[in-house]
Amino acid sequence: MTREPPLAIVSAIHEELRALLPLLTQRQTLRLAGREFHQGEIHGHAVVLVLSGIGKVAAATTAVLLMQAFDARQLVFTGVAGGLHEGVEVGDVVVARQLLQHDMDASPLFPRFEVPLTGRSRFDADRDLAAELAVAARGLPGTRLHEGLIVSGDRFVSSAAESLAQRALLPDALAVEMEGAAVAQVCADFDRPFAVVRTISDRADDAAHVDFKRFIEEVASATTRAVVEAWLTRA
Ligand code: SAH
Repeated sequence: MTREPPLAIVSAIHEELRALLPLLTQRQTLRLAGREFHQGEIHGHAVVLVLSGIGKVAAATTAVLLMQAFDARQLVFTGVAGGLHEGVEVGDVVVARQLLQHDMDASPLFPRFEVPLTGRSRFDADRDLAAELAVAARGLPGTRLHEGLIVSGDRFVSSAAESLAQRALLPDALAVEMEGAAVAQVCADFDRPFAVVRTISDRADDAAHVDFKRFIEEVASATTRAVVEAWLTRA
């Protein structure tokens, strides 16, 4: 059966995927590299849903598989993140316009945060796709939306000291998570559009761990599902 190249929607945590799976019709599941790729349709769009796992390597592996094995034409990464910038609060939605790996540091050979041999530290999300997701999020009742820089690294940032240090180094960073900038680098290599949309689960401070668990259990992925539905039912 031939399908048009799908939109890929990637989640980091299983609660998010569980919220999206019921939207998928004509579901076919393919297992690859320890992941289950769920192909089907959402509101008439060919879609592949997958759980990436947590961290930059898991996210990068997943993104490569989506490009190579599924010919994904664009990729949306959904998930939760810690709020860094003042005013980015639990329950808010952040759509990334740029992403950076906050734990990339090959200095003094390369400037801090620069991905060696690319000449770049910041990778742009696709402008149109990010704008579409922002419109979808803005339409949700009671949701506050922020757009700008999301930073990623292989650390769950859960102390006020660490989040203050990140804010000092990267004053425009809105939120911190563990996958987005890895996906950004892969999609830049493949020249495929991508976007990242995150619901703030914690403030990346000393209460982060407690808040995170509560947020996942109580709010889980209703926001992700609502954004994805609004995005895919757009005119
Ligand atoms: N306890 C969880 C593990 C979550 S790891 C579990 O059992 O599944 C954190 C996940 O949430 C990652 O996908 C990361 O992208 C995001 N995240 C949320 N808050 C974060 C923070 N303060 N720092 C880094 N990542 C955060």
